[in-house]
Amino acid sequence: MRTQVGIVGAGPAGLFLSLLLHRAGVDCVVLEARSRDYVESRVRAGVLEQGTVDLMDELGAGERLHREGMPDPRLDIRFNGGIIHIDLPVLTPGKLVTVYGQQEVVKDLIAVRLNRGGAILFEAEATHIDGLDGKQARIKVETSKTGKIEHWFDSFFEVVWPTALAYHFYVSDQLPNAFFYLALLIVAEALDGIGKLGVYVPAEKSLVGPGLFDRIVRLVGGRRNIYVWVLVACVVLAMPEKALIVMAFWEVATAAVDLLHSGWIRYVARRQSSTDLPLG
Ligand SMILES: Cc1cc2nc3c(=O)[nH]c(=O)nc-3n(C[C@H](O)[C@H](O)[C@H](O)COP(=O)(O)OP(=O)(O)OC[C@H]3O[C@@H](n4cnc5c(N)ncnc54)[C@H](O)[C@@H]3O)c2cc1C
Repeated sequence: MRTQVGIVGAGPAGLFLSLLLHRAGVDCVVLEARSRDYVESRVRAGVLEQGTVDLMDELGAGERLHREGMPDPRLDIRFNGGIIHIDLPVLTPGKLVTVYGQQEVVKDLIAVRLNRGGAILFEAEATHIDGLDGKQARIKVETSKTGKIEHWFDSFFEVVWPTALAYHFYVSDQLPNAFFYLALLIVAEALDGIGKLGVYVPAEKSLVGPGLFDRIVRLVGGRRNIYVWVLVACVVLAMPEKALIVMAFWEVATAAVDLLHSGWIRYVARRQSSTDLPLG
């Protein structure tokens, strides 16, 4: 399924977000791990502040809330043997709270979103999010136990197909050094993994996301998509065995860039921390 924004969770936050995005003309899909029945009857909070009520009105989801909810103009705080009445409308120019269960809010938001043609996928647990680093962003959903098992084999699949290629080129005598290039590819991939950690972990920590340089490297760097194109090009040029060589050196170049960049990031961070003034 293709969309502009994938939202994980049909709780109040995800549902409000989906309606706000829809109002702004942004396409989105909500994925919810639980069933519709479950989220619509999950009892949690029960009091809405004025801002939430106003937002529900703005989004066209407040009709039942006004019919069935109980506006409460006063908060009572029991303290030191007495009761302190807080008169909300007087103290907060006209604002009050409304007693209306969170599960009712969820029901109304789901109904409005579905009525407007929005997509909410229930019993669809998002288990993997990837591609936020410059490739196409994806949320992977598993609807069965076997789906979960599939991910355990991801790394295995990554290695198996170049191994099959190397084996084929070796036994067919097209590339006697096939296993050397395979080893180079695998070692470079492992080193690249370490390099990427050094680039992406600091980016995640600082919540800025990877920069343009890293996105470009990620886009053109060694990975399965690129290898498939390399293989196609070499087959078209009638030299399929060269694909393994190109793949290996492509990965070496990617690993070198990522490792150097990650080293540079560490160096800059160290210099920065040594020039920071000590506190106190
Ligand atoms: C028992 C209880 C009582 C509470 N009482 C109050 C109260 O009185 N007043 C108050 O203000 N607040 C209260 N809260 C807090 C309030 O309920 C939360 O702040 C509110 O639910 C947060 O909304 P949310 O949309 O961020 O998260 P949630 O309501 O938790 O929604 C998140 C949704 O994401 C789904 N999900 C999670 N992981 C995945 C995944 N990997 N893939 C797909 N779907 C996924 C979950 O199933 C869930 O439906 C209470 C909370 C609890 C638990």
